[in-house]
Amino acid sequence: MSKVTITVTSPLLPDLDEFHSLLKEIWNSKWITNNGSFHKRLEAELASYLKVPFVSLFTNGTLPLITALQALRITGEVITTPYSFVATTHALWWNGIKPVFVDIDLQTGNIDPDKIEAAITPKTTAIMPVHVYGKPCDTKRIQEIANKYGLKVIYDAAHAFGVEVNGESVLNAGDMSTLSFHATKVYNTIEGGALVMHDEETKKRIDYLKNFGFAGETEVVAPGINSKMDEMRAAYGLLNLRQVDAAIESRHQVAIKYREGLRDVDGISFMEDMPGVKHNYSYFPIFVDAEKYGMTRDELYFKMKEAKVLGRRYFYPLISEFATYCGLPSSSRDNLPNAHKMADSVICLPMHHELSREDIERILDSII
Ligand SMILES: *Cc1c(COP(=O)(O)O)cnc(C)c1O
Repeated sequence: MSKVTITVTSPLLPDLDEFHSLLKEIWNSKWITNNGSFHKRLEAELASYLKVPFVSLFTNGTLPLITALQALRITGEVITTPYSFVATTHALWWNGIKPVFVDIDLQTGNIDPDKIEAAITPKTTAIMPVHVYGKPCDTKRIQEIANKYGLKVIYDAAHAFGVEVNGESVLNAGDMSTLSFHATKVYNTIEGGALVMHDEETKKRIDYLKNFGFAGETEVVAPGINSKMDEMRAAYGLLNLRQVDAAIESRHQVAIKYREGLRDVDGISFMEDMPGVKHNYSYFPIFVDAEKYGMTRDELYFKMKEAKVLGRRYFYPLISEFATYCGLPSSSRDNLPNAHKMADSVICLPMHHELSREDIERILDSII
């Protein structure tokens, strides 16, 4: 019998009957979008679950990045990381901002705070770091630098749903944080996302901006966009919120088994949990040392594929290598040695709540 393919991710889906009964409510109310009751409820429940003051829901995780930059009136240059999903830098481009790439720390994959100051110029207005794989950035150091130079900080926290440091949500760091609720993430609303902010004034402004800038029936206060989450996705999101803790615990068990299985494999390394951090196990990256392992990263990636185990080379290529950005001065290879090293050695193993013991064994067998 031919083996079934093990995919890298599998969406967390609500119970269909429960979803159906919420859909009935929506149908009966005939209120299907525009800040309906499910939209309001999900914003409130997410704020409470995530331990943050305010949440504004969006249709995806890219528009909150673009909108946060608009709301904070960021211009000129923004310091960011090349080791992320391309949307992080695209959000700057869509605002006419010049991205300035800074190298990463090899321990976490996050922007290296020690290298930020050297990249600051008179045009720098903000820093946009990413909590890569849900591993928290050094938010304290980054804030100190931001305060010293009067810069805003917007975190792309697409990977950091529910991540806490010593009991405090990592989403409370900086001026604002963005989330993605795309189907491939730990928590999903099919497509969706959110902005997390500290105060009601900002929440109000963001709510205007995601609704064309409307502040009332006839008043438009800013050139907003349309990025309002509809009632169906909000209802779906409410149901998924009830089962996300169980899904994260399943992922945790997968991570434990991966670490057990890979600990003694020469040439394969992985990240440990950081002390004091509540992790969400959004990804499980491994790093291939070709010399010690006897095979390059790409050779292993394709060997796994032959065994019908789909990993992902996340994040390869670096954002700084894409056509739009490769001409920037900060995109030079010499400026980003650690980012290149990580991008050239990484494979993210399948990681989701439904991986069985047999799946995990097959995945490990394809590597060991
Ligand atoms: C998924 C992701 C995004 C984009 O989110 P979408 O919901 O797909 O628009 C942005 N940044 C990072 C780091 C991501 O992983």
